[in-house]
Amino acid sequence: MKQIYLDNNATTAVKPEVLEAMLPYFREQFGNPSSVHWAGRMVSGAIEKAREQVAELLNCSPAEIIFVSCGSEGDNFAIKGTAEALRHKGNHIITTTVEHPAVLETCEYLEKNGFEVTYLPVDKDGMLDLAELEAAITDKTVLISVMWANNETGNLFPIHAIGEIASRHKVRFHTDAVQAIGKVPVDVKAAKVDMLVLSGHKIGAPKGIGALYLRRGTRMTRFMHGGHQERNRRAGTHNVAGIVGLGVACELARLHQEKDYVSVRRLRDKLERGILSTVPDVKLNGHPDPDLRLPNTLNVSFNFIEGESLLLFFDMKGIAASSGSACTSGSLEPSHVMQAMGVDIVLAHSSVRFSLSAENTEDEIDYILAELPPIVQRLRDMSPLYQREEPTPLHCDECRMVHKAS
Ligand SMILES: *Cc1c(COP(=O)(O)O)cnc(C)c1O
Repeated sequence: MKQIYLDNNATTAVKPEVLEAMLPYFREQFGNPSSVHWAGRMVSGAIEKAREQVAELLNCSPAEIIFVSCGSEGDNFAIKGTAEALRHKGNHIITTTVEHPAVLETCEYLEKNGFEVTYLPVDKDGMLDLAELEAAITDKTVLISVMWANNETGNLFPIHAIGEIASRHKVRFHTDAVQAIGKVPVDVKAAKVDMLVLSGHKIGAPKGIGALYLRRGTRMTRFMHGGHQERNRRAGTHNVAGIVGLGVACELARLHQEKDYVSVRRLRDKLERGILSTVPDVKLNGHPDPDLRLPNTLNVSFNFIEGESLLLFFDMKGIAASSGSACTSGSLEPSHVMQAMGVDIVLAHSSVRFSLSAENTEDEIDYILAELPPIVQRLRDMSPLYQREEPTPLHCDECRMVHKAS
């Protein structure tokens, strides 16, 4: 069976060059980088090289990079570390309603511990009002946390403008850039960001490695207590192979992302136009201007259908995508992002996210565009919500009954 992977915002395949670079660190280069002997020295250089590779992608100094275990840890570190370090200055945090749970739930945790959090709303296109953001700042505000790009819709937030506002008000600014890295240019200096988080497994490195950029001079409390790794900021023996892999993935992103994402964007646009023009009753979720979304992401609601059922049918055709209504907790709540955008509950449940990578091909997009319309029609024919023009005789009574009842 064909295998078409369109769930790259959930995780990516490890790039062959990344895996190759990592392998020696599972074999002969097994030393602990904190050891002074030859085995330790062999690997400490590799960590510093990776630090340079990450720093070069972000346009910062290697000393401003702290390796962490994942994007979620980076977000926790940045937010809790700031809250603790700046508690004497104030207890107010500004974030948005559409952040990743790693940010949202960290903020909710802080609310239980004496902090006040403003969750900025988004409009129907999933965008923020910068005047509202600026108006939310008080003399108690110690942190603004806004993601660079949204994982569900792909929406890009105006990070440079937010950086300006934050620096004008002397408020620390953190951005979860897990989805933006490797897809759009990210320059921490130009964006006036104080803290930025990225994750390896979203950019072709393995799961279980990430990095936090912490601008020089930013006061932070330690997050992990223990050994003196990462200049005393983050204890724990280094994940040497993961760090090496992250470094190479960042280097590959720096060298190839611009070219790669021109073709990814072309395929995404083709998929988007194809779906919107051939399937009736669909709605694009996210900003209608494709320039204001990540080049790889498309989120569409197929009215009258459960996103989850569509995914099962896709899966039978070898297509892996994800549902915008992903019920991670097993609840039937639609995604918080769709809710924040005010998407109607039925449409929110019918949303599907396609997220591409440079590995996808034009043939794959053609295949999906051929398979999709009949699947959608079949599911709609089975849906009690779908009012057919001419109900097929077999189901018409049943269908009318349902419509009368609702
Ligand atoms: C995946 C993701 C994370 C979490 O990263 P992990 O490395 O899986 O912990 C955080 N933020 C965003 C926007 C993400 O897409």
